[in-house]
Amino acid sequence: MEILEFDTVILGGGPAGFSAGMYAARGAVSTAIIDTNIMGGQPSNYLELENYPAMKRIDGFDLMEKFEEHADMFGVKKFPMQEIEFVDLVSNPKVIKTKEYEFRSKTVIIATGAKPMKLGVKGEAEYTGRGVSYCAVCDGAFYKDKVVAVVGGGNSAVEEAIYLTKFASKVYIIHRRNELRADKIIQQRAFKNPKIDFIWDSVVDEIKGIEKVDRIAIHNVKTNQASEIKVDGIFPYIGITPNVEYFNSQIKQDSKGFILTDETMKTSIDGVYAIGDVRNTPLRQVITAASDGAVGAVYAVKYIETLKEITV
Ligand code: NAP
Repeated sequence: MEILEFDTVILGGGPAGFSAGMYAARGAVSTAIIDTNIMGGQPSNYLELENYPAMKRIDGFDLMEKFEEHADMFGVKKFPMQEIEFVDLVSNPKVIKTKEYEFRSKTVIIATGAKPMKLGVKGEAEYTGRGVSYCAVCDGAFYKDKVVAVVGGGNSAVEEAIYLTKFASKVYIIHRRNELRADKIIQQRAFKNPKIDFIWDSVVDEIKGIEKVDRIAIHNVKTNQASEIKVDGIFPYIGITPNVEYFNSQIKQDSKGFILTDETMKTSIDGVYAIGDVRNTPLRQVITAASDGAVGAVYAVKYIETLKEITV
């Protein structure tokens, strides 16, 4: 196995990771970004962003290509599609082993992001890929003139429901309360959209079908009334859970698993920083992820400099 040494290794090639890569490389420290997938992170699956300053409207995939090109400009080394087998954040140097390489690094910046939460109902696992999808941009086109349900009331649920109306004949938004959590501007667009029907105060109990999804069982949490609605697809967007599988026992996290940091993005371990959606942050946006990346990388570089002073 090839051993590679860096001053900083960034886990995750999304907006937080690329921003950190740029700032670290500009701080003249050797920098690598490792990703378990192709580079780009969650925004690569967004159709369009309209709240990244100076971009007005940009495709999520295009924006992430720009992030990547910008990190390339400063010579950040990239390792996509890495299967991580082992992470030791406490040792010195810190060690990350993948199937192909052993990375040794003075600092680690965790930018692994988050993944969609599951509903946890009967039929969800069974019909995933056969009517249950967590990515409207990836699968929306399969639902031309069909009826779909989106579950949740946050930005993701409402934005993706609006996107699905490009294909589907009807989109139900099933929300457990009678008020949406999504930003007001997004709510207004959904309320105006004639293809969207809201099912308030309701939760999904089961996803049913023969071979693929054909209906879902729901109940109203206020009246307890149960019913079934015919749908061809269901898109749960009920929040996210952090990608922390490799460091769970090593680092301090909140009750939902998000990594705790101070204002410099430092975690409970010296030389380890967490940035973007994986950390306990009040706002999860591309701009806040990028901002976290700048702060975390600058403080990682300062930490590397203190190590040099100790060795001299
Ligand atoms: P979120 O904001 O946490 O919303 C999750 C929604 O799912 C909430 O409406 C919640 O209901 C509901 N929910 C949670 N658990 C549920 C369950 N077990 N059963 C049924 N419903 C459940 O998550 P998100 O929409 O995925 O967004 C994640 C983060 O990314 C947020 O910070 C969001 O603002 C950000 N984001 C931003 C944009 C944008 O700015 N354009 C786009 C996408 C995401 P309650 O409301 O009752 O809690």
